Amino acid sequence: MITVRLWKKAKYCPICFKCYNKKPEDLGMVTCSTCNKWVHKECIESLGFGGVFVCHNCQEKRQQTMKQNLKNAGQLRAAGRVSVV
Ligand SMILES: [Zn+2]
Ligand SMILES: [Zn+2]
Repeated sequence: MITVRLWKKAKYCPICFKCYNKKPEDLGMVTCSTCNKWVHKECIESLGFGGVFVCHNCQEKRQQTMKQNLKNAGQLRAAGRVSVV
């Protein structure tokens, strides 16, 4: 039960999905530079991240934003073509 509660609070490392119930600082965990989610330092190192860590969620969001920006740019270009009357 305690695990479920911790999961709901998002008190788990998004890489190994292990819950923690102590202060993450005390466990030597580090945060995602974007959403401040705590992850194990070992987990980051196992993935080959250097000093700055960005979690999977944020990477996906960033990619989506990039795609969205490209789409918007395309739409602007299209709109520009259309608005030439
Ligand atoms: Zn971990
Ligand atoms: Zn993040």
